[in-house]
Amino acid sequence: MRAAPFGRPIIAAERLSKTYLKETGLLRRRQGEVRAVDRISFALARGETLALVGESGCGKTTTGLCLVRSEEPTGGRIWYTAEPGAAARDVVRMEAEELRALRRAVRVVFQDPFASLNARMTVLRIVGEPLINNRLAQGGAELKERVAAMLRLVQLDPVYMNRYPHSFSGGQRQRLAFARAFILEPRVVIADEPVSALDVSVQAQILNLMRSLQARRAMSYLFIAHNLAVVRYLSDRVAIMYLGRIVELASRAEIFAHPKHPYTELLLTSSPNPDPTARKLHLVKAGESPSYGTRPTGCPFHTRCPYREPRCSVEEPELVEAAPDRGESHLVACHLQRQLSLRTFSD
Ligand code: SF4
Repeated sequence: MRAAPFGRPIIAAERLSKTYLKETGLLRRRQGEVRAVDRISFALARGETLALVGESGCGKTTTGLCLVRSEEPTGGRIWYTAEPGAAARDVVRMEAEELRALRRAVRVVFQDPFASLNARMTVLRIVGEPLINNRLAQGGAELKERVAAMLRLVQLDPVYMNRYPHSFSGGQRQRLAFARAFILEPRVVIADEPVSALDVSVQAQILNLMRSLQARRAMSYLFIAHNLAVVRYLSDRVAIMYLGRIVELASRAEIFAHPKHPYTELLLTSSPNPDPTARKLHLVKAGESPSYGTRPTGCPFHTRCPYREPRCSVEEPELVEAAPDRGESHLVACHLQRQLSLRTFSD
């Protein structure tokens, strides 16, 4: 895979897989496997935002959790390079102490700020707990000072430090979740649908906050989302996932101006376009996504693809370079990627 334009990766997945055993009935008989993540490879560079986009259940959250081994991968490698020039370490083989250090450097922010914050903890405890757990602060005045500084960074008033989450709005709670993640000064934040539970009016504020935190701390985001319109504002590159596979991976400009996979076209034309002058598109009538249990043979998208031809149901396309002469990487897994002229966001 060609390097991202930002330079050397800080974390990279190499043929990463996560398979679950499918069990049915009271006796929990094994009924085969479910491939939630299927041999995917990508690299996240220092200072970069890579968006991982796909419909619910495509494996993007599982991918994020595998990177910090909150889910144990069942195949492949995850390479983490703590400092530029240092040797890459395989996360899959890390022992407990090294894994703890990784989890300080790679933090996760979850979708639902109502569920992810402990309702019985004060803001001081919620935001300060990672410092205590990692023995980076003792408590008392030092902890309060550091939490207050962090609250100011996410634009919350430290005067609310002794309040509980229920007294905050959804947007404020998501600010608290980012404060809890950023207090350890991470190098990577995996943001799993960080704005999808919020009102549209609040989403832009959180995206702006994410951008300003990144500018101050020079860290990387893996931004997991189901909506391409949301990632357009924040991402440098976009990886499109379908049924556990990456089907397209390119710069944000390429994905939005020159989509090459029919599933990307479906996502683009299904996204609400914030530009009121854009021509309205009819949604592609492409049906529902099949479940992992009924994963199609050949190209996994062929049951919904309006362009399919006979070989699509038999041969699975590889993720290959689509624009080898343009100097910029654009990877696509579609037999017809050179023939199709697909619609974009603003068509
Ligand atoms: Fe559609 Fe065939 Fe391309 Fe799959 S390989 S996306 S079915 S045209």
